[in-house]
Amino acid sequence: MNEYRLPDDYVNVAWKWFRDTFGIVTECRTIERENRKCTIKIEFGDRCYSVVFPSDFEINLKDFVNDVIWNIRFYIDGNRLVIDQDIFALIYLTISGNLERNLDRSLFLRLVGKPYLDIISNRMFDMIKKMIGNNDILITKPFLTDNSFAVCLTHDVDEIKKTYQYITRSLRSLRNRDLEGVLKELRSFIRKMKGKEPYWTFEKLIELEKSMGVRSTLYFLKETGKVKITDPSTWRHLGRRYEFDDVADVIKFLHSRGWEVGLHGSFYSYRDRSLLKREKLELERILGKRVIGIRQHNLNLDIPQTWRIQESLGFEYDTTLGSNHYVGFRWGTCYPFYPYDEERQRFLRVLQIPLHIEDIAVFREDDPWRICVQTLWEVKRMGGVLTLLWHHAVFDEDEYPGWAKLYRDLIEFCKRENALVTKAEDIARIWRNRLNSNVSVEYEGKFVSVRVEGCIPLRIYSPSKLIVNDSDVTIRRGNGYLDVYCKKSEFKIKSV
Ligand SMILES: [Zn+2]
Repeated sequence: MNEYRLPDDYVNVAWKWFRDTFGIVTECRTIERENRKCTIKIEFGDRCYSVVFPSDFEINLKDFVNDVIWNIRFYIDGNRLVIDQDIFALIYLTISGNLERNLDRSLFLRLVGKPYLDIISNRMFDMIKKMIGNNDILITKPFLTDNSFAVCLTHDVDEIKKTYQYITRSLRSLRNRDLEGVLKELRSFIRKMKGKEPYWTFEKLIELEKSMGVRSTLYFLKETGKVKITDPSTWRHLGRRYEFDDVADVIKFLHSRGWEVGLHGSFYSYRDRSLLKREKLELERILGKRVIGIRQHNLNLDIPQTWRIQESLGFEYDTTLGSNHYVGFRWGTCYPFYPYDEERQRFLRVLQIPLHIEDIAVFREDDPWRICVQTLWEVKRMGGVLTLLWHHAVFDEDEYPGWAKLYRDLIEFCKRENALVTKAEDIARIWRNRLNSNVSVEYEGKFVSVRVEGCIPLRIYSPSKLIVNDSDVTIRRGNGYLDVYCKKSEFKIKSV
């Protein structure tokens, strides 16, 4: 299935993603198409800039991906940015899920090592900055100003008691003739019999994060999937059976001390609205407040059906989009985004916070630390969000030696690299506030009046020196830009 036909409005959709992602404060005026060439016109005061690129509705996905990802070229010609590949088709295909659905699996998997979408879009953004910033004042709503990237800390509470794992793990060790493995399970079982439950690790997790001054999100699971005694792949549903009531004190404690409690949608809930609804209501009853965040168990997703269900139930963000099998960038991005529903022709209102590093996937690697650091460098370079998933049970050192340490080391490393390390709801809030705050700009000769809703910082690129004479406005100069923090809704900038 490598042939693909793009819908008529794909450039509009892709431009919206691009504009939102980079927080560009201007709309495109028109999108024109002529002889397989597309022109996006962007207006600044009385000047107009355009982005020109080839555009074809019928594409061969395989050739297209190879060309656009590896061979794309940009150049500036006066007020025009010329791109020799259709970057907007790539954006569209990615955020609508069509690339993953239709591209050859082996080729798709070759893309996940890097945030390809972010890398290419950043190149376009840099060129737009250069083109416009040489003549005009370009204003953006930056995602972060004080930090160079963000780290989103998450835990899935799959089970609170070790049960069937004693059997499955011992069998696996026996199969591999690993006597030490069998003995380990035996020792663990004896500890459990003496009253030490290996998979109850809340105190350790809380202490660890408290000592580093960070807070995370814990997603709680209410598994009701049917168990067939003849099918070992369903045994886990039984081991994972706990009630939110069993952990009510933990849930309340976490919430009262600044952690986020989210829902870990049960195994089959990704296709079952009424099941997911029951789970959400039950968790909200215990928590005493609305639950806005979710991750589906086993990272089960039926795209876009799962997100439609989540949206209809009022979830504000989802952080399922990742992999149990590899570390990396499933849709080539480390930026939160609203996915596009092609059939309904609109963006879905469940913010995606993509998942990059899951403990299980990372400990399958020969060198877990190395792949984590490689991944975080990519995220830092893009100024995006690195999402970590460490299951709650792995914080027991006897059961999972070294897993908690890697988590701690990574967080410390990221903090030294100037990351904002926090829970998922904070990431969603920052992203949403920035997107929802309207900024309008009026150009009047050497003056620019800016109106901004909500107190969000603005980043201003300009060819000339800027003066902001206003006691309610604080300015910080960066490399080639100004960051403006404003306490009120309107201010003026003068360029000299
Ligand atoms: Zn899970």
